[in-house]
Amino acid sequence: MFDVIIAGGGPTGTMLASELRLHDVRVVVLEKESEPNLAPRSLGLHARSIEVLDQRGLLERFLARGTKYPIGGFAGIRKPVPELDTAHGYLLGIPQNITDPLLAEHAVELGAEVRREAGAELVRLDQDGEAVNAELADGTRLRSRYLVGCDGGRSTVRKLLGVDFPGEPAGIEWLLGVVEVTESPETMAALATEIGSPLLRFGPAPHAATPGLYNMVARTAEVAEDRTAPTTFEEFRQRVTALAGTDFGMHSPRSITRFGDATRQAEHYRVDRVLLAGDAAHVHPPMGGQGLNLGIQDAFNLGWKLAAEIRGWAPQGLLDTYHAERHPVGAEVLNNTRAQAVLMSPEPGPQAVHRLISELMNFDEVTRYLVERNTAIGIRYDFGDEHPLVGRRLRDVELSSGHLYGLMHDGRGMLLDQTGRLSVAGWKDRVDHVVDHIEGDLPSNWDAPAALLRPDGHVVWVGEDQQSLLDHLPRWFGAPLD
Ligand SMILES: Cc1cc2nc3c(=O)[nH]c(=O)nc-3n(C[C@H](O)[C@H](O)[C@H](O)COP(=O)(O)OP(=O)(O)OC[C@H]3O[C@@H](n4cnc5c(N)ncnc54)[C@H](O)[C@@H]3O)c2cc1C
Repeated sequence: MFDVIIAGGGPTGTMLASELRLHDVRVVVLEKESEPNLAPRSLGLHARSIEVLDQRGLLERFLARGTKYPIGGFAGIRKPVPELDTAHGYLLGIPQNITDPLLAEHAVELGAEVRREAGAELVRLDQDGEAVNAELADGTRLRSRYLVGCDGGRSTVRKLLGVDFPGEPAGIEWLLGVVEVTESPETMAALATEIGSPLLRFGPAPHAATPGLYNMVARTAEVAEDRTAPTTFEEFRQRVTALAGTDFGMHSPRSITRFGDATRQAEHYRVDRVLLAGDAAHVHPPMGGQGLNLGIQDAFNLGWKLAAEIRGWAPQGLLDTYHAERHPVGAEVLNNTRAQAVLMSPEPGPQAVHRLISELMNFDEVTRYLVERNTAIGIRYDFGDEHPLVGRRLRDVELSSGHLYGLMHDGRGMLLDQTGRLSVAGWKDRVDHVVDHIEGDLPSNWDAPAALLRPDGHVVWVGEDQQSLLDHLPRWFGAPLD
């Protein structure tokens, strides 16, 4: 019997598996596709995801494969971005077909079992008060204490649970192809300038070993009646020809997929012992490049809470805070992608609002507000405390003994104590006690002698009073040791 079954080996599933393995949770990831997905979906990671990688010691391997770019704007409007409250104020350009294997590799390094084959598709599940029973396509039956559906926008888990997925259906659809072309790079560059439009965009596939490999996105004339039907190379070639007047001599397709602008969110992220994360819980168009980032951060929020349940120290209600915290964050991302989609419409009304937002973004505070949303560094969970730091993640800071995120690789809680007078002795199996001083720039709003951080880096308490600390520890870290 496993502790946790994860359905879906995309970025959300493998990130979650790594988080669980940090706490020695027995976990299996079920992935129905034996071959990796080569579709060039996400092109980069935003500041909060970069912080998350840093908190787990993964950043170096991502930096080695990516490129730092200045942070983008909002709905295609680019303005100088004021200084942000993060040590990672850049966009890390790294295509998803590199991100996904790096995350999967880390999960396996930490001891997660990953089954990648058609037979590993989860086809049925039921649950009782004790555990979840899962049935796979090859007839295997597995039992676990919890199951998490990280199985993408068309999630089988969500459907089997009967969880509603309200929102808007796709009104626009695109075909996304990775193909080789016979035209020279010079001709392709000239054609991109000449015929590139919101209906057709193309460029060389980043990091491709084959010269002449291109990513192309072509808007379809209408939304397909059956959006689950696989698209073909011929359909893609015809559509590109209709838009460009040439097919660029395309051949040897690596991947052809269909995607749309459907915007939906699962009504519940948890049904007893089964939970949803990533695209299984929310889908939206790719404006602002947020989907994969959101999934990684769902996993980061859920992992330690689920591990606490399995390890037996979770306080009452901890697992329910996953829905309470992440559902509003997902809803907010859906709303800001809706807004960006409207602003990018060529109609006169939206264009007028676009101009207005562009003018407003000349004010640093407006740009900061919008960028903090897209990059997810502005998230503040409601812990019922007025202090401006409580509920936010603490950004990385330099300490006299190193940097804060470098001390968080094990996924434990932390008391960052500048007084040297506090104690977390009763929780020493779950919470590290770091007595140190912040050096250099202080995070904004920082006036705290000491701060208690959850394993995901969010601040749950600030102060210097031992009794107040003792009052707060059980809410997040359960009962003290005897
Ligand atoms: C064109 C495009 C551009 C995008 N650009 C960006 C961007 O710039 N930035 C960004 O952050 N996001 C972007 N996204 C979104 C991003 O790709 C997704 O949000 C992300 O892949 C979600 O990760 P996930 O692990 O939740 O789901 P997925 O990546 O969909 O992974 C789910 C996995 O589950 C498997 N699976 C499904 N059903 C089962 C089952 N029953 N049993 C076992 N396995 C199953 C699937 O094979 C799949 O591997 C883009 C998406 C598209 C389409």
